[in-house]
Amino acid sequence: MRLLLLGGTSEARELAALLVEAGVDVTTSLAGRVARPRLPVGKVRIGGFGGVPGLRAALADYDAVVDATHPFALGMTANAAAACTDLPLLRLERPGWEPDPAWHYADTHEEAAGLAAGLGERPFVTVGRQELARFVPDLGERAVLARVVDVPELELPGAWRLLTSRGPYRLEGELELMAGHRADVLVTKDSGGTYTWPKMEAAGRLGVPVVVVRRPAGPEGVPTVHRVAEAFAWVTGLGRWSDHGCQEPRGSTSPDS
Ligand code: NAP
Repeated sequence: MRLLLLGGTSEARELAALLVEAGVDVTTSLAGRVARPRLPVGKVRIGGFGGVPGLRAALADYDAVVDATHPFALGMTANAAAACTDLPLLRLERPGWEPDPAWHYADTHEEAAGLAAGLGERPFVTVGRQELARFVPDLGERAVLARVVDVPELELPGAWRLLTSRGPYRLEGELELMAGHRADVLVTKDSGGTYTWPKMEAAGRLGVPVVVVRRPAGPEGVPTVHRVAEAFAWVTGLGRWSDHGCQEPRGSTSPDS
C-alpha cells in the first residue's frame, strides 16, 4: 500500500504518524508555501505537481490518496478529485467551529473585509498571507494587525502592522495581543481545529466582534471523513482489500460523505 497524503495540516501529520507506525508506505506532499514547514514522519515531497495532468502522472507511484489539505486549500482539493479517477481517494477535512450566533459570517474575503470595516477601526486580521490583498480596499486606512506565518509579498498599507508567528496559540497570549492592539474586530476563516481557537475565546472574553469567512463546499462525490481515526481506518481497510487480491471499489467506504 503506497499512499499519497496531501498534507500541510496537523491532521495530515497525525495520520502520517499513525500509518507509518502501522507499516503503510506514506508519502506526504507539501506545497512548499512556508519557509520552515513542520515535517511529518515518513517520506515527504515538496512542491506543486503541475495541475491535474502533473498530479495524474505522479499517481502512477501510488495505490491510494488521502487529501488532508486545509479546508481552504480549494485548488489542491479540486485537482485531487479530478485526477483520482482510477485510484481510491478520501477527503479528510477537520470540522468547522461550532457556530456562535454572535459571529458575523461572510461568504468571501471581500465580504468579510466590508463587514469588518463596519464593525471596527482596529481589526485583527488572521486570514493568511495569500488573502491579505483582498482586505486592502476596505481596510487599507484602518489600523490593521495582520498575523501571518511568513511575510507576504504584498506591500502593506502604512497603517497596517504585520506580525509573523505560527500556532498553536494560547489564550493568555491571545488576550494580551488583542488587548495590546486594542483590537475592536477579529477576522478569521472558519479553519476549525484547536491550534487557532484561543483567539476566538479571547474575542469572546474581550467583547470583540468576530467576522468568520465560511468554508467553500467540499469536493462533490468524494468520500469525506472528519477525524484522523476514520481516515486511518479507511486506509488500513484498503490494505486488507488488496491483501485478498481485490480491487477497492472507488468510494465504497463512505463513513460520512
Ligand atoms: P491551493 O490554493 O489549494 O493550491 C494551489 C496549488 O498549490 C495547487 O494547485 C498545487 O499546485 C499546490 N499545492 C497545494 N497544496 C499542495 C500539497 N499539499 N502538495 C503539493 N502541492 C500543493 O492551496 P493553498 O490554499 O495555497 O494551501 C497550500 C498548502 O498549505 C496546502 O498543503 C494546505 O494544506 C496548507 N495550508 C493552507 C491554508 C489555507 O488557509 N489555505 C492554511 C494552512 C495550511 P499544482 O497545481 O502545481 O499541483
